[in-house]
Amino acid sequence: MMKIIIIAIDGFSSCGKSTLARQLAKELGYIYIDSGAMYRAVTLSALQNNLIGKDFFDEKQFIKKLPGISIKFELDNNFNPVTILNNKNVEDKIRNIEVSSYVSIISKLPQVREKMVALQRDMGKNKAIVMDGRDIGTVVFPEAEIKIFLTADLEIRAKRRYDELKAKNIKVDFDVIKANIIERDNIDRLRTNSPLKKAPDSIIIDNSNISKQEQLKIALAHAKKIINEG
Ligand code: C5P
Repeated sequence: MMKIIIIAIDGFSSCGKSTLARQLAKELGYIYIDSGAMYRAVTLSALQNNLIGKDFFDEKQFIKKLPGISIKFELDNNFNPVTILNNKNVEDKIRNIEVSSYVSIISKLPQVREKMVALQRDMGKNKAIVMDGRDIGTVVFPEAEIKIFLTADLEIRAKRRYDELKAKNIKVDFDVIKANIIERDNIDRLRTNSPLKKAPDSIIIDNSNISKQEQLKIALAHAKKIINEG
């Protein structure tokens, strides 16, 4: 009998977590959830309501509005998940540098984390899920059968993110991207609530010098071993 499992993928910003999570889910026929998209969607809602911006954050008002914010995923025509904020598809609005600049500030709040973690656990209640983020193996699914911690050199990560945004025709500056990655990593790593850290039972994959295919092969081998144990 094949075992149905949860795969948690955590790591620093722009390490290719989503790429690996998406590929693994496809190979296994599992659901893929990008938890970062959920934090990005909440941040977009704060921006749209003018509750956060350069040098200001109306935290009180934001917390008041938080229970009314709905976040879910739907599949588009190509079966790719798209992020839905208050019944609107916001997939194209959550990856820009503006959202990236504020997302780590929003993600620090315990009220935000509590809401997101509850939604994420609900999405994983039937297992057969691959979720990527910062606290998936430590907080969301500490019981996950496979935990992967991805890392890569900073320069390589910044270059990948730069190429990715450029390919989407988003105007970007390499140094701005790199500074944002450093800043987010620091806030995510040092925050009190669910900081980014390696779960003790996770497998580390440094993908600085390996291809996406090689990375998938390594992760898949680990997953299949557990799945086939039954
Ligand atoms: O994964 P991505 O880079 O899109 O995540 C954006 C931000 O969302 C992260 O920098 C982090 O602040 C926050 N995040 C988080 N916990 C997660 C996933 C993302 O705090 N599980």
